[in-house]
Amino acid sequence: MKITYSIVAPIYNEIENLPNLYRRVSDVMDSSGQLWELILVDDGSTDGSTDKIRELAKNDKRVRPVIFARNFGHQVAITAGWDYARGDAIVIIDADLQDPPEVILQLADKWREGYEVVYAVRSEREGETWFKKTTAAIFYRLIHWITDVKIPVDTGDFRLMDRKVVDVLKQMKERHRFPRGMSAWVGFKQIGVEYKRAARVAGTTKYPFKKMFKLALNAITGFSYFPLQVATYFGFVSAGIAIIAIPIVAILRMTGLHLFEGQTTTLVSVLFLGGVQLISLGILGEYIGRLYDEAKGRPLYIVREAPDDK
Ligand code: UDP
Ligand code: MG
Repeated sequence: MKITYSIVAPIYNEIENLPNLYRRVSDVMDSSGQLWELILVDDGSTDGSTDKIRELAKNDKRVRPVIFARNFGHQVAITAGWDYARGDAIVIIDADLQDPPEVILQLADKWREGYEVVYAVRSEREGETWFKKTTAAIFYRLIHWITDVKIPVDTGDFRLMDRKVVDVLKQMKERHRFPRGMSAWVGFKQIGVEYKRAARVAGTTKYPFKKMFKLALNAITGFSYFPLQVATYFGFVSAGIAIIAIPIVAILRMTGLHLFEGQTTTLVSVLFLGGVQLISLGILGEYIGRLYDEAKGRPLYIVREAPDDK
């Protein structure tokens, strides 16, 4: 019999959440009356989640464990989920139950109406710090503004995608990944469904500021040349200022006015231009480093244990 729903949950040290996740997902999915599978991608957990996943898989054949050889990151874990999913509709969900499994049925309703990507929009967020909420809000808007693909704001990875869409995504092999951007980029019929993002049930966030920053860089560099263009604009603006300022300074000097003299002026302009040049170099470096990673062509992830059928 054909599986209808594949639920994919990336797991990184979520031992306390795993039993609840399994229970809530199976209750909800059983009520749908369709065949389903739960793909638990263990992203190099060190807290015993791996054994817990094996145990769940042993007791229920609908649980498919994909166990990574080390931590490859949330985005890569999602990618492995796409690779191993066999259903007609693929749902990505966080393992900490911040995305309530009950919402899956609402996403599925839209899918049945004919939408191919149904993303869940966070209308409210509970139990997250002021810092997290503010940086997230800025991040979503910045990405929306500077990227060429219109990535919906306040939308995480929690979404349902049709098999057609996932088959396209599987061909996108980029290694610095931003799945929500990729799923907007492919097109198809898309729609959002609002939901209230709950607080984490147990454990702490696996996204410290450093990881959030990396994700933001992947999103920006993966979907826009804007930072490279900024360097060009800065260059034109500085050159423009120079063209105007040089004759003015020369005339002032000839008329004997003692303005813009001395080391301070020199220091300010050298530091300013030096700064702009270093930032531009750094931006170039971000893109070149990514090119280098692509050129190496290493596998995106390495599995230690996984089902035989992909
Ligand atoms: N996660 C992962 N690998 C990582 C970090 C996180 O698979 O390197 C998983 C984590 O277990 C969770 C999901 O990604 O299921 C979202 O992480 P988290 O809840 O920590 O992020 P937040 O909700 O705080 O943004
Ligand atoms: Mg979370």
